[in-house]
Amino acid sequence: MKQTPSTEQSAVLRKTVLFCQGCEYHAPTTGSWVIHEKASCEVYECPHCRETVTVRDRMD
Ligand SMILES: [Zn+2]
Repeated sequence: MKQTPSTEQSAVLRKTVLFCQGCEYHAPTTGSWVIHEKASCEVYECPHCRETVTVRDRMD
């Protein structure tokens, strides 16, 4: 019973789910990914197999 949507917040967070290519791990961007903050981007890394999952541009 871990799917208990609680109003607007989860609706927003649910929009982006990342899938690891190296294993079967998947989680929303707010999940337990290892995030390396670079000067101009953020590198999301799988906490299980260390595969780079995605690179997001930093807006600020
Ligand atoms: Zn993985």
